[in-house]
Amino acid sequence: MSDQYLTLNRTNDKMPIVGFGCWKVEENTEEIVYTAIKNGYRLIDGAAVYDNEVGVGRGINRAIKEGIVRREDLFVVSKLWNNYHNKAHVRPAIEKTLEDMNLDYIDLYIVHFPVPLQYVDPAVQYPGPWKINGEVALEKSPMHELWPEMEKLVDAGLTRNIGISNFNCQLIMDLLTYAKYKPATLQIELHPYLQQEALVKWAQEQGIQVTAYSSFGPNSYFVFSEDVKSVPTLFDHDVIKSIAAKHNKTPAQVLLRWSIERKVAVLPKSMNEERIKSNFDVFSFKLDEKDLQAIKKLDQNLRFNSLFTYGINIPLFD
Ligand code: NAD
Repeated sequence: MSDQYLTLNRTNDKMPIVGFGCWKVEENTEEIVYTAIKNGYRLIDGAAVYDNEVGVGRGINRAIKEGIVRREDLFVVSKLWNNYHNKAHVRPAIEKTLEDMNLDYIDLYIVHFPVPLQYVDPAVQYPGPWKINGEVALEKSPMHELWPEMEKLVDAGLTRNIGISNFNCQLIMDLLTYAKYKPATLQIELHPYLQQEALVKWAQEQGIQVTAYSSFGPNSYFVFSEDVKSVPTLFDHDVIKSIAAKHNKTPAQVLLRWSIERKVAVLPKSMNEERIKSNFDVFSFKLDEKDLQAIKKLDQNLRFNSLFTYGINIPLFD
């Protein structure tokens, strides 16, 4: 059982190592989230910018109402969107998320990107945009002012833990110099094409648990770029396929297992119940040293969720 959770710093909360990802769960959100919970998922990874928190909350509350889980059995995650980094906007942002999800608190609130964008009133546009009049408009909201506001959300009981996403080592190192509550987790793009071994190891050494997003690699990004379409999917990669065949598992299960063996949490997203089920069935086998060595060779430092993907000219990860 202990291999199914990661323990978070400060609270000692047990974060499930396999969660359900809600990005692009745009149709039947309530039903899909409910289905994930019914099939064993206890971590639900959402975000304001996924623009589906009402449906996510309905799925969660339905599962609670039907007695499938209690609220305290779930680990609900949301993320602060870029337009709300200013001191004045952080608490209203989580309050909007809680209201949308009809929850009293969440388990983890994450700074989605270290990119402070100009505030846009949610009454005008929600979630806020990357661009205003075709331009990326940054706002002077530094992380050393934002982070204490995140800490206040913990003190106010609105979230149990706070975390970060898409941060690099330099920014985390700086954050650790002033954080009263260090980040519980770091959520980053991680798959065999982008293994980031040094960052994962260093973050874990700081007591920050790492969560992988887009564990299946390029698939979520085909719609954004012609270049990505030319990258072979990991599901069809010979190395992944042969490891899957050897263990009588699917390529998806191998990709997820690869992360959890590094003590890195995963957030597979699917709209299909069979896949939702099989993506959770990753605790009954183990990769061997030969498998791990073969996967290690697939690393190309190939990132799909760079800001360039969205036409934003900021080399965030350089
Ligand atoms: P993913 O990598 O989990 O899945 C990609 C696609 O693979 C899915 O759309 C689905 O169609 C397909 N798929 C799923 N299971 C499959 C299976 N068993 N066989 C074949 N195909 C399958 O998707 P993702 O949404 O990119 O990432 C997962 C989650 O991570 C997101 O939903 C979100 O919660 C989180 N995320 C966070 C950030 C961030 O900036 N923090 C960015 C991207 C994603």
